[in-house]
Amino acid sequence: MIVERKNKYRKQAKIMTSILGLLFICALTVIAIQQENYQEIVARWAVHDPNRPLPPVVNPGPPLPPVPAPSDAVILFDGKDLSKWADEKGAPTRWKVENGYFEVVPGTGNIQTRTGFGSCQLHIEWATPYPPKGSGQDRGNSGVFLMGLYEVQVLDSYENKTYADGMAGAIYGQYPPLVNACRRPGEWQSYDIIFHAPKFDADGKLLKPARMTVLHNGILIQENAELTGPTAHKARPPYKAHADKLPLMLQDHSHPVRFRNIWLREL
Ligand code: MG
Repeated sequence: MIVERKNKYRKQAKIMTSILGLLFICALTVIAIQQENYQEIVARWAVHDPNRPLPPVVNPGPPLPPVPAPSDAVILFDGKDLSKWADEKGAPTRWKVENGYFEVVPGTGNIQTRTGFGSCQLHIEWATPYPPKGSGQDRGNSGVFLMGLYEVQVLDSYENKTYADGMAGAIYGQYPPLVNACRRPGEWQSYDIIFHAPKFDADGKLLKPARMTVLHNGILIQENAELTGPTAHKARPPYKAHADKLPLMLQDHSHPVRFRNIWLREL
């Protein structure tokens, strides 16, 4: 009787071990497939591939007043001055402030925050010039560079075609936005960006790539996208180890793009 019972327990234990093993393998497979998906998406298309399909257009509705900052946010621009910002050499920026917004002064260079940030939730509002001028990449171009390295493209993508991975809301050179949620030039638009900084080990080896989720005018356009590395033009360079916190940068791409109401929550 006792022997029989022992055998029964042994059998049950074996079955349980097999089930747990199977579940473990399934979980590993899911993780592998997910990782492969991102690598596949990127590998399927050359950088700035003109054949990459353009996402569908979605009307986001009329512009909204500035979104109030939550109580725990770091205010990076409150409509008054650019004291939290500098040019890339650390000197005061020459971008101009007026009527609650600031504007790129072409040729004066990129600007960056005086403080560094890592993983964060960023809210930023922007407007491309009206009347619109130029076409493709030469129309209302700027950019929001998380850690000064990872760009969410700012562009006038309202009835203005360019390569998919370079339009407004693209993670430049890597991922087109899921939809084109651009408002008309001159109208205020917003990005809400959830950014997870990449992680490196002590030897500078990449442990975890950067990830981004982006809402454009309240509409999901990037969902937990895994970045291939820092932003470049016509290239996808690999990661290079860097500090945990680096300044947020805005791009001078020779167009008088405007920005207002910038705040950030550190994660
Ligand atoms: Mg740009």
